[in-house]
Amino acid sequence: MTDPTSTVLALLDADMGSQRATGEDNSADHAPYILLADPAASAADLAEKWLARCGIPSRSFRNGEDALNACLKQRPTLALINASMMVSNGHPLFSVLKREAASRDIPIIALCNNPREAREALQAGVTDVVRKPVEWHIISRRAEMVCRTVSLKHQLTVTREALQAAEKKAASTRRHLVAMSDTDPLTGLLAVGKFRELLARALVNDDEVVLFIIGLERFALINEAFGRDKADRVLTLVGKRLREILVRRDLHAPGCNSVLAGCAAKMDSVRFGIFMPHNGQPEHLQAIRNALTETLAEPVNVDGKTVYLTSSIGGAVAPRDGSTAPVVIQNAERAMLGVKKRGGGFDFHREHAGLSSARFLELDFWLREAVDSGELKVAYQPLVNLWNNRIVGAEALLRWHREPGGNISPAEFIPVAERSGIVVQIGDFVIDTACKQLRRWLDNGRHDMRMAINLSLAQLRRGNVIESAEKAIDKYELEPQLLEFELSERGAIGNDPKIMRQLHQLKALGVRLSLDDFGTGDTSIEYLKRLPIDVLKLDRSYISGALENGVDAVIASALVGLARNMNLTVIAEGVESKEQYELLRSWGCHLYQGFYCSPAVFGDAFERLIDDQEDSSSQEQRV
Ligand code: C2E
Ligand code: CA
Ligand code: CA
Repeated sequence: MTDPTSTVLALLDADMGSQRATGEDNSADHAPYILLADPAASAADLAEKWLARCGIPSRSFRNGEDALNACLKQRPTLALINASMMVSNGHPLFSVLKREAASRDIPIIALCNNPREAREALQAGVTDVVRKPVEWHIISRRAEMVCRTVSLKHQLTVTREALQAAEKKAASTRRHLVAMSDTDPLTGLLAVGKFRELLARALVNDDEVVLFIIGLERFALINEAFGRDKADRVLTLVGKRLREILVRRDLHAPGCNSVLAGCAAKMDSVRFGIFMPHNGQPEHLQAIRNALTETLAEPVNVDGKTVYLTSSIGGAVAPRDGSTAPVVIQNAERAMLGVKKRGGGFDFHREHAGLSSARFLELDFWLREAVDSGELKVAYQPLVNLWNNRIVGAEALLRWHREPGGNISPAEFIPVAERSGIVVQIGDFVIDTACKQLRRWLDNGRHDMRMAINLSLAQLRRGNVIESAEKAIDKYELEPQLLEFELSERGAIGNDPKIMRQLHQLKALGVRLSLDDFGTGDTSIEYLKRLPIDVLKLDRSYISGALENGVDAVIASALVGLARNMNLTVIAEGVESKEQYELLRSWGCHLYQGFYCSPAVFGDAFERLIDDQEDSSSQEQRV
């Protein structure tokens, strides 16, 4: 035989299930009532009378089954049950009530005839017991209190549940809205989805587009030091600076009739993106790049303290570096991650020179042969004193002539050598060859010559430049100060302790250090002061742009002034005309280098240049 209680519980479960399924709530919540189950007719009468007086409706039943049916239809707020019924036909009712009492807080009061019944009822799990004959005026007061408390508690639960549900809904709506929204609420920049969409549109409409991904470095420190709110304000400020870049008219590509000026977005917590239409001119890329690095390098005031942000910026140009939004973004991101590893700075996507993977493998393979077969040669470009026009030294520049195919530019093969690691061997070859050449010139009576040698960061990371330099100095018996090692600002030297240590070790050898391509990176003055350098080489782009572009001229002359104040020698690169030469003198540069004097030539031709110069100066003296 089935236990009637378990049948009832099953029914109850089914009943509750259907309530849940329909979302209907037919519990005692809406109309509280007290359920009385007592076989005595007098009890029912009295209970109803007294309970009605205190404003609580009641329903009384003389047998357990009817009471159970009522209970199943609508849960009572409070149940009064005759103790003897609990062990007879009221048992299923009691089981249901007990279960409900546990989950829904329905107090059960047992009406007992004697102490034994009271004890057993309490053991069975009722909330409270009262002795018969029941003093209904007391019971009614107690019932009223209980009902009020239960109702209050219930209201609280309902309110809390409703609040939680509302909060949950609001949070999900907020998330949804943010995801759907076109803008990032913190910075006011575009949200990433919209950014991708607009980039895709620009890639279809514009001939070329340049995209930069900017990652803020060590932002966690700002978060920690100033707290989340203030750190958020820094992000807002970065957003503002990027928006200002977008509206700068001087950064709009001339000849670009794009509908869209460009867009900026917050890509994730500390990563930003910005793209602009581009006209294919390197000067335009340079201008945006400079603007970005400058604006991000500007200090931020947080809580009255000056904070310098470090950023890693990766650039990609479409369609050269990809023709779809995801690919262009990915390539800029890769460039950014490369920069990040070096401690911050700037770089374009490496394959931007059109170097496909196949070309890379080809060059890598040929280079290994070239090192052994002697195809690689070193040429020398004169360094000229701007004030007396005398050649005071040379920069060693690699030349690679390969048959068939002709000359391959170092601008193309050095990055390949850097990536494959062969730059270490090539670099050692240049150091040895250039030092040997310097020894020859010195032996030929050119006593005031010095030699500048390019170093790449990869050489410092992977090779042993100190040892190679020391070896060459000893071998060719050179005064170390006649050697100058150039390191490009383009590669972002960063704060890598290994690189810094090597720079100091080089300085300790007595050689001079020079910061090449100055003005293309994002070196701050503070950082510049920490670099153990003697020479600044102002990048060619400033010289070529200076005559046409007033801004370039102002920046370049300010950079020269800055370098002079720091007691650095300033060399201007890429001087091609008399006008540029005159301009550089007016800025106060010390030396120059460029086609205006001569391109890089091999050793013997270089000696002839010196001879010619001596001839012409002696002629001048005669005149
Ligand atoms: P760089 O160090 O900035 O060298 C100056 C570049 O500008 C040279 O290009 C030079 O030929 C060119 N140049 C000099 N004067 C003028 C001018 O008046 N007008 C113009 N338009 N260009 C001028 P090059 O020789 O093609 O070298 C390109 C880059 O390759 C170098 O830039 C340097 O970064 C790298 N490189 C060359 N040789 C070496 C080397 O031995 N080691 C390393 N690590 N890098 C090297
Ligand atoms: Ca150089
Ligand atoms: Ca340079």
